[in-house]
Amino acid sequence: MSALDSIAEAREFVSRFGPQALADEALARAAAVQPVLNALITTLPDDPVVLDAAGPIAGIPFVHKDLFCTQGARTTAGSAMLSGFVPPYDATVTARLRQAGARCIGKANMDEFAMGSSNENSAFGPVRNPWDLSRVPGGSSGGSAAAVAAGLVPFATGSDTGGSVRQPAAFCGITGFKPSYGRVSRHGMIAYASSLDQAGVLARSIEDCATVLSVLAGADPLDATSVDVPVDAYQAALGAGVVGMRIGVVGSMFGAGVRPEVAATVRSALAELERAGAILVDIDLATLAHAIPAYYVIAPAEASSNLSRYDGVRYGHRAGDVRDLKSLYRKSRSEGFGIEVKRRILGGTYVLSSGYYDAYYLRAQQVRRLIAEDFARAFAGVDVLAGPTTPDVAFRLGEKTEDPLAMYAADINTVAVNLAGLPAVSLPAGLVEGLPVGLQLIAPAFGESRLFAAGQALQQRTAFHQARAPEVQS
Ligand code: GLN
Repeated sequence: MSALDSIAEAREFVSRFGPQALADEALARAAAVQPVLNALITTLPDDPVVLDAAGPIAGIPFVHKDLFCTQGARTTAGSAMLSGFVPPYDATVTARLRQAGARCIGKANMDEFAMGSSNENSAFGPVRNPWDLSRVPGGSSGGSAAAVAAGLVPFATGSDTGGSVRQPAAFCGITGFKPSYGRVSRHGMIAYASSLDQAGVLARSIEDCATVLSVLAGADPLDATSVDVPVDAYQAALGAGVVGMRIGVVGSMFGAGVRPEVAATVRSALAELERAGAILVDIDLATLAHAIPAYYVIAPAEASSNLSRYDGVRYGHRAGDVRDLKSLYRKSRSEGFGIEVKRRILGGTYVLSSGYYDAYYLRAQQVRRLIAEDFARAFAGVDVLAGPTTPDVAFRLGEKTEDPLAMYAADINTVAVNLAGLPAVSLPAGLVEGLPVGLQLIAPAFGESRLFAAGQALQQRTAFHQARAPEVQS
């Protein structure tokens, strides 16, 4: 056990030795594992903190996904395009963490502009999985997940557009919480696909996710898509238990392509919840089969629009040695963006172009509506839905890089949740061949409290979330 394993232990340490001593511990740990994991893009030895803050995360060090703007500290979104970008303002998420007294020790590595499922798309090199260094940590919040799993910090931020908090949490054996769309402000979070993007939290325990989310959640006048729904008392929700809770076990999430050992591991974690008093009900979500094509039309379409701002003129990488404005655009974007980002911009531009708009983009939006309706129907009969977060455990570096469609297909159980704007969590559920498996629970919009209750019930009865990554023991 280390003071950096949980917020409770970190607070205990801070109350005895002060916040600087704990930040020094975290920075030393980060320096020691950086050559092995490459989890950070930038280390922040002297990030400013509000010293007189009180409250649950005062003085607690954390790692911040490198797409949240940090005033005065480089924010790259994992891209060469922004390798020199120092924001003049804080994202709302950053500001709330600062006001609460949390201490950012570094900016986490990530897939470029959050596009990816393996962290191999970062302009700053891949991140390695602390459970097996030959494997990916998942993406796009791979640096955040690896940092928590390796014990650098008790929590990290992430963003989840199609699974980027839940999937790396599953691959790294930690808890990853994605709130409802609109629950946390997107102001100052570099955009990938604006109708899907949502900030989230990665920590070992669901309890620590609840603590951090209670700091982040709430409407923000700077983000018109943040929603003015009252924020539940998440810490109180942790104790609500699962007696009588109806859990819909989504058959299609255990379907073809899911490794049988992964399915069995997830089912046995669900059986544990049943022993705690939950009622398991079989459910089918027929539209799930269409989630990948719909997502991989809508997300690139929005990305192509969001990323048009990186033109080499206003900010971002500017190419030298150009003849005219057009070649400035072309050369700056050619040099600044990586291959996967270019693939998404091209695909997104194509599906939005006249003549193809109706056939692809409009059709994908119709499918999105059907998926949301399918979820709504399911929630008429159950409180939460459950399935494996991912079809398999972490794959090897390079295993899927030559085959983008195989990479996309592995997002099958996470993307539908974003299309419907729902909250979801990935909870450690055990190991298959020594590698972590995630149980995903999904709730209706703004039903975060149910996920905290169910997650806590599981983590009180089991120790899966306390398993340690073997490659980085201190
Ligand atoms: N893997 C998905 C994608 O590449 C999701 C990424 C995310 O949630 N940011 O788009």
